[in-house]
Amino acid sequence: MFSKYFKSLENKKVLCTLCYRSCVIRENEIGFCKVRKNIEGKLFSLVYNKPISINIDQIEKKPLYHFLPKTKTLSLGTNGCNFNCAFCQNHTISDCKVIDFSKIKEFTSDDIINLALENNCPSISYTYTEPTVFGEYALEIMKKAKKLGLKNIFVSNGYFSKDYLADILPYLDAINVDLKGSQEFYDTLIPGIQVKHIKENIKELHKHNIHLEITNLLIENYNTKEKDIEEIVNFVFSVSSKIPLHFSRSFPHHRLKHIIPTKLETLKLAEKIARDKGIENVYLGNI
Ligand code: SF4
Repeated sequence: MFSKYFKSLENKKVLCTLCYRSCVIRENEIGFCKVRKNIEGKLFSLVYNKPISINIDQIEKKPLYHFLPKTKTLSLGTNGCNFNCAFCQNHTISDCKVIDFSKIKEFTSDDIINLALENNCPSISYTYTEPTVFGEYALEIMKKAKKLGLKNIFVSNGYFSKDYLADILPYLDAINVDLKGSQEFYDTLIPGIQVKHIKENIKELHKHNIHLEITNLLIENYNTKEKDIEEIVNFVFSVSSKIPLHFSRSFPHHRLKHIIPTKLETLKLAEKIARDKGIENVYLGNI
């Protein structure tokens, strides 16, 4: 599908404006997320109508604990991601190698809406990988869902551009943003990412009254020092003490097989720091 999220550059190169990675893509090449291609000097989404995973989940699995509690949510995601985290839980679909997308079964936006309605799901979640990279597909479904009274939920790393955020804001009802750590943490494990953009987006989402919850995955020896946890807590508190904050336990996985599972005492410490600061709803996950 043709994308509107690009700027033309010299020699048929394009600048993708969908997320803050801001890839400059040469003709016939793909962006960092591997699902957006420059064809003859224009940008195309390779995963439009091509979900790699569709499931019905409990909304608490997202995790969202304060939005439509105890309901089911139709969840979908495509291949591709703009982060390539060393600890990704879904790396087999997010870090896709070169895939022949023509072999993936098509689900149009109407098909997705019908699946949600048939299965009595009051919401649709754009999740599993980063929804921004299938932004056009997600937005088309969101517009139709909104008209029918279905709620739209993003589970996101928060790195979408201002342009894309402005487009989804009228249709987005709730979001869980994964705020992973300090700038040093991103530099170490997800080079090229500027945490300030994620923080700006979180503030903007809050300003527009989108239901917001934040997850922080604690990875032992990477972001588990008291000062790391305090940085997350202080930022969340500065936006609103009412934002639910989820600390999640990590396990050895993907390119971080050498780590130890997050210690329970670390999770308890994080919970205490957040509660002492005044965050009203603090949760521990994956324990
Ligand atoms: S959406 Fe993909 S191609 Fe576009 S800037 Fe982000 S990583 Fe690059």
